[in-house]
Amino acid sequence: MKGRGYYIVIIDGDKKITRFLSKKLKEVGFTVRSVNNPREAEEAINEQIPDVILIDLSFKDYEGNSFISRIKSKPECSQIPIIALSGSFESLEECDFRQLLNLNDFIRKPIHIAEVLTRINTQIKIMEIQNRLKQKNKELMEKASRLEQAVKTDELTSLYNKKYILEMLGAEIQRSVRYKKPLSVIMLDIDNFKSINDTYGHLAGDNVLKQVAEIIRSSIREIDLAGRYGGEEFVIVAPETSLNGALRLAERIRYNVENTRLHLDNKNKNISATISAGVRCKIPSKAYDISKETKPLIDEADAALYQAKRNGKNRVEVFIPLEKRQHAERNSKLRMYPKDFYRRSS
Ligand code: GH3
Ligand code: MG
Ligand code: MG
Repeated sequence: MKGRGYYIVIIDGDKKITRFLSKKLKEVGFTVRSVNNPREAEEAINEQIPDVILIDLSFKDYEGNSFISRIKSKPECSQIPIIALSGSFESLEECDFRQLLNLNDFIRKPIHIAEVLTRINTQIKIMEIQNRLKQKNKELMEKASRLEQAVKTDELTSLYNKKYILEMLGAEIQRSVRYKKPLSVIMLDIDNFKSINDTYGHLAGDNVLKQVAEIIRSSIREIDLAGRYGGEEFVIVAPETSLNGALRLAERIRYNVENTRLHLDNKNKNISATISAGVRCKIPSKAYDISKETKPLIDEADAALYQAKRNGKNRVEVFIPLEKRQHAERNSKLRMYPKDFYRRSS
């Protein structure tokens, strides 16, 4: 019998019984408080939540019944096992039987201490098992949530990984079609990253990747999704974002990277880096084939990124579909985004 540490409240109008039970339960190591009516019991329970309640059911005014429901309806008390003691068959007859459903066990008087101890012990064991299960369940939930996070996340930058961002892009394409909203994809790539690695080492390169990722994270809106697509390549999925909005976003990131001094691991040195970006904005149309759109959208943003590299890096370019290209070439503003746009518009 493991009485130690457990706290029992005994409620019985018969002082001989409370004295007897109190003495016996204390002998085996329980902490006990005995009271003679439910009102006192409520005070005692409010002071300290017991592990088990023993209650005599034969209070003349049936206070005991409403007391049990009151206790069980308090969230902090709802799990306390309640063992009823009854002196007579009649007192049970007089009970509201729905109240009995709130009981965990029942002992008929005259009580035998061996029976009381065994019943209390059973309730405590059940409680311990429940607590262990609750703890295990909590641990499993935390583990599952960590695993879920790990499956989605790029370890180095904590942005989404390629697999997850593509999955989300698929979902966003479907949403864009359903709600007839534009969707933008931005591919970003650090310029001359190889030479950063070559000059300062791979660890310094990793540090630059992390800081660029942080700039991306802090530049996007809550609904935008940012992922690491490959080595030093990033992708942003911007739902409900027009071409103009996506250009502003890409330019903001380009500007923020260019104007942030990046520190290098273990070296008291700061460096500057730049990025290039390619933007693809798609407005849903009837001919939009959902299942085939993920790859073309990425490829098209990538083609714009390639164009940005070819045009001198540290710049943002837009993918123009073939049919619009001639028109776009006449409209150079759309084809090439001016570098100082963000500064002018902010
Ligand atoms: P560009 O301006 O045309 O993009 O040139 P670049 O040097 O940035 O691109 P390139 O593709 O030539 O080189 C990318 C380098 O990125 C090569 C690769 O070793 C490095 N890299 C890829 N993944 C990582 C990584 O996780 N950490 C570090 N430190 N370097 C990486
Ligand atoms: Mg690069
Ligand atoms: Mg690259």
